Amino acid sequence: MPGSAPSLALIDEAESRLARCAPLLAALFPELAAAGGHIESRLMAAKPLQQALGAGDASGSWYLKRDDELPVAGSIKARGGFHEVLAIAESIALEHDLLKDTATDRRILATPQARALFSQYAVTVGSTGNLGMSIGVMAAALGFDAVVHMSADAKEWKKDRLRKRGVRVVEHAGDYAEAVAAGRAQALAAPRSHFVDDEQSELLFFGYAAAARGLARQLAEAGRVVDAAHPLFVYIPCGVGGAPGGISHGLKALFGPNVHCFFAEPVASPCFLVQLASGADSPVSVYDIGLDNRTEADGLAVGQASELVASLMRPQLGGVFTVSDDELYLNLLALKDTLGVEVEPSAAAAVSGPGWLGSATGRAYAPDIDMSAATHVIWATGGSLVPPDALRGFQDHARQLSQRRAA
Ligand SMILES: *Cc1c(COP(=O)(O)O)cnc(C)c1O
Repeated sequence: MPGSAPSLALIDEAESRLARCAPLLAALFPELAAAGGHIESRLMAAKPLQQALGAGDASGSWYLKRDDELPVAGSIKARGGFHEVLAIAESIALEHDLLKDTATDRRILATPQARALFSQYAVTVGSTGNLGMSIGVMAAALGFDAVVHMSADAKEWKKDRLRKRGVRVVEHAGDYAEAVAAGRAQALAAPRSHFVDDEQSELLFFGYAAAARGLARQLAEAGRVVDAAHPLFVYIPCGVGGAPGGISHGLKALFGPNVHCFFAEPVASPCFLVQLASGADSPVSVYDIGLDNRTEADGLAVGQASELVASLMRPQLGGVFTVSDDELYLNLLALKDTLGVEVEPSAAAAVSGPGWLGSATGRAYAPDIDMSAATHVIWATGGSLVPPDALRGFQDHARQLSQRRAA
C-alpha cells in the first residue's frame, strides 16, 4: 500500500488498465457492449429524495451514484474486482508472450489460446456476497478456474448464479471468516493460484479509486462546480473499507480539501469507526467493544476493518456515521418511493449522510461551510442482481416498519 498522500500514478495505472481492457470486456459480456466495455454508472439527480427527507435547498443539491446498476456484477464490486482479475490476466499473458506491452489489443485475452493458458490457473476468493460475484464471474469468463468459497448460509440464488457462469462454489459449514480462511489456505498451497484478498489488495483498492475521474466528469457535465466555495460531500457504505476507501482516495487526489468523504456503517458493525476512534494502528474489532456484528446489511457485516485502508484513510476521511437496520429499510423505501430505485439494504446506508451532516452533531464537522452551494453524492452500492421477490421482501418489511412508526 502507498503512503497517505493520494497516489495519482497508481490511480492512473488502474484507469489505463480498465480503459485498454474495455474492448475485451465488451467482447466478453453482451451487457457491457453498449457502454463499450467501460465500467461506469449513472449519476442521478436526487431532488425528490432530498425533498422527501425534509432537506431544503439551503442544504445544497443531492445526487445518487448508481453503482447498484453496474453491469455483470450488480454492485460497486465490479470496479475493484474486475480490475484485479484483468491485472492477473494481463500479467500471466505478458509472462507467456501473449501480450507484448500496454499497446497490444486486449481482445487477444478472449481467444481460445488465451483461455487454454488461463485454464491452468486458479483465481480464488472467499466471499458470501458481491465480491464473490464480481471476481468469480470475471475470472470464469476469461477461462480461469474460478473458485468462490462461501459459508453454508450464503443465499441460494447467489450460488446458482455463480455456477451457471462456470464458477466453482465451495461451501463451508462455518461462518464467513472461516470460508475466507479456508479459501486463502487452499489457494496459497496450490501452484498457479491467485487469492483475491479483500483486506490487503492494492489491485482492488486502485480499481475502486479509478471511479474518481468518472465522477468528476459527470459532475462537470451536470454543471456542478467543485472548489472551496462549492464543496463536494460524498457518502459511501463501508464494509471492510476497500471500496469506500479506494473511491475516497481517488477523490482526494482530484479535489483535495474541497471534497469531504464520509463512510456509512451499520450500528452493529462499525468496524472502520472503531478502528479509527481507537487511535491505534493495531487491530480493534467491533467485538472488542461489545457489539455483535449482526445486521441485515450483509454487505457491510464486517467486524474488522482493513488495517491498511484504515491507516491510509485516517488523515483523509471526513468521518464515519452509523445507521440502524430500521433506518436502512426506511432509506431503501425512500429511494423506491421518490426515485423508483430498488437497492439492497447495504446500499441504502449512505442515504442518511446529508441529513446527518445537517444535524447538530454533523454541523460541528464544518460549521463555517455554506452548504447552499454544496453537492452531495450518495453512493448506491448494489442491488440490480437481487431477485425481484427478495427486493419485494425488503420493501414489504420497510413498509411495515414505516406504518408502525406512523401509527
Ligand atoms: C462490499 C460492499 C460495500 C462496501 O465495500 P467494502 O470494500 O467492503 O468496504 C458496500 N455496499 C455493498 C453493496 C457491497 O457489496
